[in-house]
Amino acid sequence: MLRLPESISLANLPTRIEKLERLSKSLNKEIYIKRDDQTGTEISGNKVRKLEFAVKEAMNQGCDYLITCGGIQSNHARSTAAVAARLGMGAFLVLRSSGDEPLEGNYFMDKLLGARIRLITREEYREKRMTIMEEIRDILAAEGHKAYIIPEGASNGIGTFGYFKAMEEILAQEKQMGVKFDAIVLAVGSGGTYSGLFYANKAKENEAKVYGFNICDDAAHFKSEVSKILKDSFRYTQAEIPFTSDDILIVDGYVGEGYALSRPEELAFIRELAGMEGIILDPVYTGKAMYGLVQEIRKGTFAAHQNILFIHTGGLYGLFPKRDQFGF
Ligand SMILES: *Cc1c(COP(=O)(O)O)cnc(C)c1O
Repeated sequence: MLRLPESISLANLPTRIEKLERLSKSLNKEIYIKRDDQTGTEISGNKVRKLEFAVKEAMNQGCDYLITCGGIQSNHARSTAAVAARLGMGAFLVLRSSGDEPLEGNYFMDKLLGARIRLITREEYREKRMTIMEEIRDILAAEGHKAYIIPEGASNGIGTFGYFKAMEEILAQEKQMGVKFDAIVLAVGSGGTYSGLFYANKAKENEAKVYGFNICDDAAHFKSEVSKILKDSFRYTQAEIPFTSDDILIVDGYVGEGYALSRPEELAFIRELAGMEGIILDPVYTGKAMYGLVQEIRKGTFAAHQNILFIHTGGLYGLFPKRDQFGF
């Protein structure tokens, strides 16, 4: 039995698994959704599962401040700000900005939650976000704080265990429900969620295939990222699992206009599913991934799979800054 690192309890778990009745019928499949958009309110979405492990590590190191980074509408940054406030810690967020974004959605919540924020350019973010976070750690140290740096999306070795544990949760729910999922599908943005599900799926010798739909970059990038994250997580468990890059299933082709940019067909799909099932997807991650899944099912790519579980990783607040693009 593989021993996971210590964690703290932050999320509302287990999250429900629900069947999407009308979508299933229209596609001739059994489509289920795991409501990780309901892990909480301020903390909602997938990042809080990773933070349960990362923040415990921070606390064990005696840290009283969390530093992290992301896009201006980062769900991860907002979750981190909420967790920090909840635990009486400080949060410092380094956000990628073009300088003209409205104070909306996650960015607005970051401010409400009392996070300190530094806005940086796209180039600074790409080239030296880690250096900038390290500078901030030194500034906080001079103020008498000990800060813990969480990389983008908490997608590193320690964060992986959030979704290792989520996979254990899914296996237990399968038993209760009397279903066996043969495909697990999710959006991939920095790779940590995928890595955790993949790791546990292999470690538990589960038969399901785990498919990630990348919402930025490409399949080659994420195969390499996931491999790196997995290797980092093996340091904690001393339990390496053998895998090859071919085992990491990334379905490319649904990035569309680019990260956080929406195509009309993606927004139309979000609107359609909302009315059909009462499920609201986000424009940056889950909307693209679920749109991609439906296209792939129609093309026949998922012919070998009947019971499909989609992970709703959250992102609701990122929808509001996009409201004008829906054409209402
Ligand atoms: C961050 C995020 C993802 C992607 O998860 P990664 O672990 O970064 O790949 C998916 N959906 C939402 C809503 C997210 O915020």
